Amino acid sequence: MEKIHNFNAGPCLLPDEVYQSSAQAILNFNNSGVSILSISHRSEEFINILEETRKMSLELLGLQNKGYSALFLQGGASMEFLRVPFNLLTTKAGYINTGNWSLKAIEQAKIFGQAKILASSEDKNFSYIPDNFEIPERLDYVHFTSNNTIHGTQFQKIPQTDNVLVCDMSSDIYSRVFNCDKIDLIYAGVQKNIGAAGLSLVVLREEILGNTNRVIPAMMDYQEHLNKNSLYHTANVFGVYTCFLNLKWLKKQGGVEAIEKLNNKKAALLYETIDCLDFVHGTAEEKNRSKMNATFYFEKPEMNKIFDELCLEANIVNIKGHRTVGGYRASLYNALSLESVKVLADVLNQMKLIV
Ligand code: PMP
Repeated sequence: MEKIHNFNAGPCLLPDEVYQSSAQAILNFNNSGVSILSISHRSEEFINILEETRKMSLELLGLQNKGYSALFLQGGASMEFLRVPFNLLTTKAGYINTGNWSLKAIEQAKIFGQAKILASSEDKNFSYIPDNFEIPERLDYVHFTSNNTIHGTQFQKIPQTDNVLVCDMSSDIYSRVFNCDKIDLIYAGVQKNIGAAGLSLVVLREEILGNTNRVIPAMMDYQEHLNKNSLYHTANVFGVYTCFLNLKWLKKQGGVEAIEKLNNKKAALLYETIDCLDFVHGTAEEKNRSKMNATFYFEKPEMNKIFDELCLEANIVNIKGHRTVGGYRASLYNALSLESVKVLADVLNQMKLIV
């Protein structure tokens, strides 16, 4: 089969060896004659995988031996929009509003208390990351979204605050070196750069829990999940296994430091191509551009059709922009090769000859 260049925003491309090993595990897990879909979540084999995955998830963020624990929970990042305030919000939390996903998180927080908007880029359809804003003291926590998947913007630095800091890192986790030890709770839907959809990874410092005096149902309670070592109930065994394989792959590549170098090259190639052509423009402010999701549009809407046809010929798929932004979005997650970005850059350059 010809190579397909899959720029999907999520669930994202995973490395071929992850697809192959997970397919093999469905047929015959570790030569046991049994499918991974049919082993016990309390079996020794699975507990070893879960523990190794939890360990790697911390190591790759540079958080091993720093008082953090990792949980693989069901529900995806949207469940954490709810679990975070359930566990941490007593009176008032602060949210930085940088896009649709921040807004969804804010809506959930409002169920539990006040969600104060500390800064927002809504005035320009979230095309930038606000800076130079004050963060008051004594908030229950401050929440930000490190990468805005839909709008193609990314925080370059971590907001400075003495409050508990919470970050939705769903779409740039494990893509770049970030001072994660400045953050008290990180969460991410695993379907980007971690594994197959259906889980969220939550990395947290246990000491931030237990301050709300609220009765928290067990499935919502981080403390309960910590007490049970992320096995409160039947785990998503296969989902965790895909995370295990993918994080192992990332370690083999040289970890986040090494993949960041590749990600920088991919983003530079695409943005330089866009900036050299006068008929296509990035939608995000240059200094806030995301290296994971590059959003762009053509000056004349009639060019979309030509671009779509050229993409089809070049086997480029899943590059349409989100409906709230329009245009196109090329997602450059860890497993996407530089070669795929070269193919896309060639297509954009070909447009020069046509228009
Ligand atoms: N936050 C961000 C930054 C996202 O990109 C997404 C999904 N694309 C979500 C949250 C929601 O994740 P989920 O679908 O896993 O609930």
